[in-house]
Amino acid sequence: MGNGSATGNVAGQADAPKRRHIVLTSHPSRSGLKGRPVQWGQVDPLARGAIVATVTDPNHRNAIGTHSGSYAVYRALAVASGVLQADHRPDFTNTAPTIAIGPHPSWADPEKIVSLDPFGALVGEVYQELMAQGIDIRPTIAVTRAHIQMPELLEAVRQGRIKEDGVIVKPGGDLVVTKAAVEPVWYLPGVAERLGVSEDDLRYALFEQTGGMFPELVTRFDVKVFLPPIGSITAYIVGDQAAITDPERPLAVRVHDECNGSDVFGSDICTCRPYLVHGLEECIATAQQGGAGIIVYFRKEGRALGEVTKFLVYNARKRQEGGDRADAYFARTECVAGVQDVRFQELMPDVLHWLGVTRIDRFVSMSDMKYNAIVRSGIDIVKRVAIPDDLVPPDARVEIEAKKAAGYYTETAAPTETDLAQVKGRDLI
Ligand SMILES: [Zn+2]
Repeated sequence: MGNGSATGNVAGQADAPKRRHIVLTSHPSRSGLKGRPVQWGQVDPLARGAIVATVTDPNHRNAIGTHSGSYAVYRALAVASGVLQADHRPDFTNTAPTIAIGPHPSWADPEKIVSLDPFGALVGEVYQELMAQGIDIRPTIAVTRAHIQMPELLEAVRQGRIKEDGVIVKPGGDLVVTKAAVEPVWYLPGVAERLGVSEDDLRYALFEQTGGMFPELVTRFDVKVFLPPIGSITAYIVGDQAAITDPERPLAVRVHDECNGSDVFGSDICTCRPYLVHGLEECIATAQQGGAGIIVYFRKEGRALGEVTKFLVYNARKRQEGGDRADAYFARTECVAGVQDVRFQELMPDVLHWLGVTRIDRFVSMSDMKYNAIVRSGIDIVKRVAIPDDLVPPDARVEIEAKKAAGYYTETAAPTETDLAQVKGRDLI
């Protein structure tokens, strides 16, 4: 045993197994989780309490799970390999947000936001004193500025649909954005209520379906905050962020769920990238009219069923009797996954409430699930913007027509059963 790297083994002991002191945090009688309980929904961050989910000192923890979502596993590999000290404390010099976001009235409403920490970008500011006392508090949100270059946007500039104004769109077509990376922080009673289940049922399902990864879910009902091992959210803000909360200025929003195959690699089986770029164009146009635009990008690949399931479904669709057709679009997903969709849009509006959104003038999505979730959360939607027909790739007709028939927004009549049976996709070649 022993990897010979800088793990602190002294000469002659390199092959001896390392003795470790394991601190179990699953029961209050043992030494872990004595951290101050979190008072979710308090407007004063000190009254709310800092969320301590780091593993450097179990005594300070007041949350289940830990930071970085699924990337915590890579951190574990780095510690196991000896390239990262388990007790490393970050140096946060110069990491503060590039713009101030909030506080907004929604931050003080324990029901408006249940799946992220509204103070997540501000921990270095609001918990400075606690951090100076040695409590290891980490940001769960980071805000920075970027220039975006996408071939479709450059083409839109060339065709005159997008104007270079020198501020939002730079000469040459660069789009200037502010972007925020948001890690999930779940207040379990709030998440349970949002989904209409009991907190007990939610905790047991989370415990069992992660293979028992987080025992505190079922042993520490006094600990209410959970950092789940899932992907993060990125919010892209176009234009002046002050317009987001100004009722006199327009706001365009697209909520987009990750589709790596289309978003990055340009697959033609769905409308994801074309609709995403159309959303950006809407954001730019609205920002240039004195408003703002927001694209929210969720890591919910394959309707949050994952890419392996998604590709299995693609094969099942293409190989079924009669080929890939719109009338069997959802059925094939259900055959493989047992369910059509696990994105749970009920939690999605939280990021909009974090940004202070109360009204969306142009909602660039046809999803009835997203629309209903946003409206139910108390945000008004003035107009829904469908994907322009000429942006739908030929092989994506199956998806878009099936979705329209299932209740997605459409400016024309939804297709009938007979119409759907006519919509066919390409063979698997
Ligand atoms: Zn897609």
